[in-house]
Amino acid sequence: MAIMITDECINCGACEPECPNNAIYEGGAQWRWADGTSLKEAALADGTVEPGTLPHTPVSDEYYYIVSDKCTECVGFHEEPQCAAVCPVDCCVDDPDHRETRERLLEKKEWLHIAA
Ligand code: SF4
Ligand code: SF4
Repeated sequence: MAIMITDECINCGACEPECPNNAIYEGGAQWRWADGTSLKEAALADGTVEPGTLPHTPVSDEYYYIVSDKCTECVGFHEEPQCAAVCPVDCCVDDPDHRETRERLLEKKEWLHIAA
Protein backbone atom coordinates (compact mmCIF):
# COMPACT_ATOMS: atom_id res chain seq x y z
CA MET A 1 0.00 0.00 0.00
CA ALA A 2 1.05 3.58 -0.29
CA ILE A 3 2.15 5.62 2.67
CA MET A 4 0.17 8.65 3.84
CA ILE A 5 1.01 11.65 6.04
CA THR A 6 -1.35 12.37 8.90
CA ASP A 7 -2.32 15.74 10.35
CA GLU A 8 0.28 15.23 13.07
CA CYS A 9 2.85 16.45 10.52
CA ILE A 10 4.93 19.36 11.85
CA ASN A 11 5.98 20.45 8.35
CA CYS A 12 9.68 19.93 9.05
CA GLY A 13 10.39 18.90 5.44
CA ALA A 14 12.75 16.05 6.38
CA CYS A 15 10.88 13.46 4.32
CA GLU A 16 10.65 15.29 1.00
CA PRO A 17 14.26 14.87 -0.24
CA GLU A 18 14.32 11.21 0.83
CA CYS A 19 11.61 10.05 -1.57
CA PRO A 20 13.03 8.23 -4.63
CA ASN A 21 9.86 9.00 -6.61
CA ASN A 22 9.39 12.62 -5.60
CA ALA A 23 5.97 11.61 -4.30
CA ILE A 24 6.12 14.02 -1.36
CA TYR A 25 5.19 17.68 -1.66
CA GLU A 26 4.93 20.60 0.71
CA GLY A 27 1.39 21.60 1.60
CA GLY A 28 -0.01 23.95 -1.02
CA ALA A 29 2.52 22.94 -3.69
CA GLN A 30 1.27 21.59 -7.02
CA TRP A 31 2.45 18.09 -7.96
CA ARG A 32 3.47 16.64 -11.34
CA TRP A 33 4.01 13.13 -12.66
CA ALA A 34 7.33 14.20 -14.20
CA ASP A 35 8.86 15.47 -10.93
CA GLY A 36 11.59 13.00 -10.03
CA THR A 37 10.45 10.40 -12.56
CA SER A 38 11.06 9.68 -16.24
CA LEU A 39 7.41 10.16 -17.19
CA LYS A 40 7.12 12.56 -20.12
CA GLU A 41 3.44 11.69 -20.22
CA ALA A 42 1.19 9.60 -18.02
CA ALA A 43 -1.35 7.09 -19.34
CA LEU A 44 -3.96 6.90 -16.61
CA ALA A 45 -6.25 4.06 -15.61
CA ASP A 46 -9.26 5.80 -17.15
CA GLY A 47 -7.59 5.78 -20.57
CA THR A 48 -6.61 9.41 -20.70
CA VAL A 49 -3.05 10.50 -21.39
CA GLU A 50 -1.69 13.72 -19.96
CA PRO A 51 1.65 15.55 -20.10
CA GLY A 52 3.97 14.63 -17.25
CA THR A 53 4.55 18.31 -16.60
CA LEU A 54 0.85 19.10 -16.07
CA PRO A 55 0.48 20.68 -12.62
CA HIS A 56 -2.06 19.13 -10.26
CA THR A 57 -3.97 20.59 -7.36
CA PRO A 58 -2.26 20.06 -3.98
CA VAL A 59 -3.65 17.14 -1.98
CA SER A 60 -3.22 19.23 1.19
CA ASP A 61 -2.78 22.93 1.75
CA GLU A 62 -1.75 22.54 5.39
CA TYR A 63 0.66 19.63 5.63
CA TYR A 64 3.23 17.83 3.55
CA TYR A 65 1.42 15.22 1.49
CA ILE A 66 2.11 12.09 -0.55
CA VAL A 67 0.78 11.49 -4.07
CA SER A 68 -0.47 7.92 -3.66
CA ASP A 69 0.01 7.04 -7.33
CA LYS A 70 3.71 8.00 -7.13
CA CYS A 71 4.41 6.18 -3.86
CA THR A 72 5.92 2.71 -4.16
CA GLU A 73 6.64 2.30 -0.44
CA CYS A 74 10.23 2.68 -1.67
CA VAL A 75 10.05 -0.83 -3.18
CA GLY A 76 12.85 -1.25 -5.69
CA PHE A 77 14.98 1.39 -3.98
CA HIS A 78 15.11 0.77 -0.24
CA GLU A 79 14.24 -1.87 2.34
CA GLU A 80 11.76 0.36 4.13
CA PRO A 81 9.75 3.54 3.45
CA GLN A 82 12.29 6.33 3.74
CA CYS A 83 9.77 8.99 4.72
CA ALA A 84 8.65 6.92 7.70
CA ALA A 85 12.28 6.24 8.62
CA VAL A 86 13.18 9.93 8.91
CA CYS A 87 9.94 11.44 10.20
CA PRO A 88 10.51 12.78 13.72
CA VAL A 89 6.87 12.44 14.76
CA ASP A 90 6.04 9.10 13.08
CA CYS A 91 3.21 10.53 11.01
CA CYS A 92 4.06 8.64 7.77
CA VAL A 93 1.79 5.62 8.06
CA ASP A 94 0.20 2.92 5.90
CA ASP A 95 -2.65 4.26 3.81
CA PRO A 96 -5.57 1.82 4.16
CA ASP A 97 -7.22 3.25 1.05
CA HIS A 98 -4.25 2.39 -1.18
CA ARG A 99 -3.29 -1.24 -0.68
CA GLU A 100 -1.04 -2.82 -3.29
CA THR A 101 1.00 -6.02 -3.51
CA ARG A 102 4.79 -5.90 -3.66
CA GLU A 103 4.52 -7.07 -7.28
CA ARG A 104 2.22 -4.18 -8.13
CA LEU A 105 4.51 -1.72 -6.33
CA LEU A 106 7.47 -2.98 -8.40
CA GLU A 107 5.42 -2.52 -11.58
CA LYS A 108 4.61 1.01 -10.47
CA LYS A 109 8.28 1.71 -9.82
CA GLU A 110 9.16 0.49 -13.35
CA TRP A 111 6.40 2.65 -14.80
CA LEU A 112 7.60 5.75 -12.99
CA HIS A 113 11.20 5.21 -14.05
CA ILE A 114 10.84 3.79 -17.54
CA ALA A 115 14.19 5.00 -18.81
CA ALA A 116 16.04 4.48 -15.56
S1 SF4 B 1 7.26 5.38 1.10
FE1 SF4 B 1 9.02 5.89 -0.19
S2 SF4 B 1 8.08 6.20 -2.21
FE2 SF4 B 1 6.42 6.38 -0.72
S3 SF4 B 1 6.29 8.54 -0.20
FE3 SF4 B 1 7.61 7.58 1.33
S4 SF4 B 1 9.68 7.90 0.55
FE4 SF4 B 1 8.28 8.22 -1.19
S1 SF4 C 1 9.18 14.24 8.08
FE1 SF4 C 1 7.17 13.93 9.05
S2 SF4 C 1 6.77 15.82 10.18
FE2 SF4 C 1 8.41 16.27 8.70
S3 SF4 C 1 7.33 17.07 6.88
FE3 SF4 C 1 7.60 14.86 6.59
S4 SF4 C 1 5.70 13.95 7.36
FE4 SF4 C 1 5.80 16.03 8.16
